[in-house]
Amino acid sequence: MIFKVFPAEELAALYELLAVNPIVGPVLKGRDKKDNALYDFALTSGFADLALDYGQTMHSAKKFFLPHREDLCTFTLSDHDWDKHVDYGAYQHTVLFGLHPCDINALNKLDKVLMESVYPNPFYGAKRSNMFIVGHSCSPTPSCFCRSMASDSVIRGFDLFLTRLDDSYFAEVNSAKAYHLLEKIKSYHATDRDHKLFRHAVSEKNKKITAQVDTSDLTKILDMEFHADVWQEWGDKCLSCGTCANVCPTCYCYGVEEEVDLDLRHARKEKLLYSCNLVDFAEVAGGHNFRPESHTRLKYRYYHKHRGFVEAYEESLCVGCGRCGNACLADITVPEVIASVRGGDNNGK
Ligand code: SF4
Ligand code: SF4
Repeated sequence: MIFKVFPAEELAALYELLAVNPIVGPVLKGRDKKDNALYDFALTSGFADLALDYGQTMHSAKKFFLPHREDLCTFTLSDHDWDKHVDYGAYQHTVLFGLHPCDINALNKLDKVLMESVYPNPFYGAKRSNMFIVGHSCSPTPSCFCRSMASDSVIRGFDLFLTRLDDSYFAEVNSAKAYHLLEKIKSYHATDRDHKLFRHAVSEKNKKITAQVDTSDLTKILDMEFHADVWQEWGDKCLSCGTCANVCPTCYCYGVEEEVDLDLRHARKEKLLYSCNLVDFAEVAGGHNFRPESHTRLKYRYYHKHRGFVEAYEESLCVGCGRCGNACLADITVPEVIASVRGGDNNGK
């Protein structure tokens, strides 16, 4: 890895160099009832739109790779035959500016399933390959438990990663394009002093991470506690609204719907992101529902994240971003659920 440093005021120049392409970044969207700032990833129209000091965005940047609704293909009838049209939806290079380590790690996990598996998803792959990613250091919120999930730092899956030092940026350079970009602004190779400042900034950030999940032997404990009463208790609280999957940067389950126009001349096959917590997620033809009760659905979401994915990829599918707990109207949080399944040996704090 190459490390460079540039003065903080050069960040606007970096943004302008990248602005030949659309730039998506964290933007202030409004305030909640308690006057807390609400951020989300959105298309920016200028450097001033970027709110790089955000704690956490409401949604992840997943929607720019996995849109909530997406046509897999469309069909048009012409000359008594169907023309099939497939559009991967990646029309131009896009810049994602200001992703935190947890969200880049989330993309790296999605890559394993959607780009590197036996059945890659070309819709995701096309958008991912067209994305220039500039990561940015974070200021952890009380609900961040990324450190427990080994997602508080990132070493791949980005072009450039910026850590704010006092009056400069420490840049981790991960692609040739990023290197050449930094050549165009005032920058220099990091010195020993910069390395020290970087380590200090990381250590200060780590002190702010207070939420934890004890993941030791978690897959085994989940196997042992498959029939534990706590699942029923959490299921009784769960509203089966699917919000947790909607805001989660790593939930990728989807359903497919087919539609034919009444004039029988056009048809489409559409993919919709779905949540395993929704009541009909495991319903099959004929009306049988394999998971009719909310606790079975909630439980399987946890088993996918913390057990099945670990078995397949030797890492969890949760990056500890805390979004699901923040968004849940029933106040169901990952640290509390896992602590309760472990039998109270972790207070989730
Ligand atoms: S957001 Fe909360 S209430 Fe809604 S499905 Fe998820 S766990 Fe259940
Ligand atoms: S399960 Fe919750 S904490 Fe984990 S990555 Fe998804 S939204 Fe973030």
